[in-house]
Amino acid sequence: MTLIKDVVDCSTYSVRGLDNQLIAQMNKLRPGLLVRIDDLRNVKLADAAVHPWMQPAARRCLAQAVSYRGKQIIINSAYRTIAGQMLLRNHYLNGRCGIVAAAPPGQSNHNNASAIDVEDSYGWRSALRASRWRWLGEFDPMHYDCIDDNISALNTIAVKAFQQLWNIVHATDKLALDGDFGPATETRLRYSPAEGFPGVDPSRILKLTEPLQIGNDVGEVQLALRAAGITLEVADKVFGPATDKAVKQFQAAKNLVVDGVVGSGTRQALGLD
Ligand SMILES: [Zn+2]
Repeated sequence: MTLIKDVVDCSTYSVRGLDNQLIAQMNKLRPGLLVRIDDLRNVKLADAAVHPWMQPAARRCLAQAVSYRGKQIIINSAYRTIAGQMLLRNHYLNGRCGIVAAAPPGQSNHNNASAIDVEDSYGWRSALRASRWRWLGEFDPMHYDCIDDNISALNTIAVKAFQQLWNIVHATDKLALDGDFGPATETRLRYSPAEGFPGVDPSRILKLTEPLQIGNDVGEVQLALRAAGITLEVADKVFGPATDKAVKQFQAAKNLVVDGVVGSGTRQALGLD
C-alpha cells in the first residue's frame, strides 16, 4: 500500500485506484454527475492517465466542437480528482517532475470535470470557442473550459465523496461529512492509499445476498445502526440475517420502505450520506 504523500511517480495514473473509488462514490451521491466521454466519436484520450469522465454539460460542449470541426480531437488531460491534484501538488512542493505550478486540491479547473487540455490547440480554437469552450490564454495554451450554464461546481461533492470513503475504513477516526477541504480532510487525503481503500466498492448496494457481503462498508452500516439505537449483537462486517433484520427495524422506525436494502434513503437516515 502506497500513501499519496509517498508517491514519487509523476503520472496521476499512480492514484487511479483511489480515483476510481472517488468517481464511483461521487456518482453514488449524485447519479449521472459524471459521464464517460470515451464513447464519443472522434474523441481520443492521449494515454491511459486521461480520465474518461466529464460533467454531462461539458460532454455536450465537447461533442459539439468535434462535430463542428469534423475531425478527431486528442485530449491530453481532462478530469483530475482531488487525489490526482494532491499528487501533483506534492510533486510541485517537492520540486519533482518539472511541475512549475499546481493548485491545491479543488482549486484547479481540471478538478471540475469541465476542462480539457488539447493537442493542436490553435487548430481547435475556433471550433471550441463556437461550442462554448473558453480558451484560458497564452500562458496555458492547451487549456479550455466549458462555460455552459449547466456546469456545476463539483468541489463540495468531490470532497464529501472522499470523506465518506475515508469513514468507511476509519470507524474511530471519522471526518465530518461537510464537503469542506479543511486541514483535517487534507491530512487524511495525504495519508490515503493510492491504490484505493482496501475492500471498498462504492458501486455495491448493501443488502442480504448469497454469498453474504463482507467488508468495511458493512461494518460501517452496523455501527451506524447501533448508534441509531437498533440492537445488533455482533458488528462483524458481515451482512447476515441479523444485520438484515436490524436494517429493516431501522427502516420501519424511520418510515422508510422496509426492504433491507441500504440505499440512499436509508444511508441518509443513518447519517452516512
Ligand atoms: Zn489545463
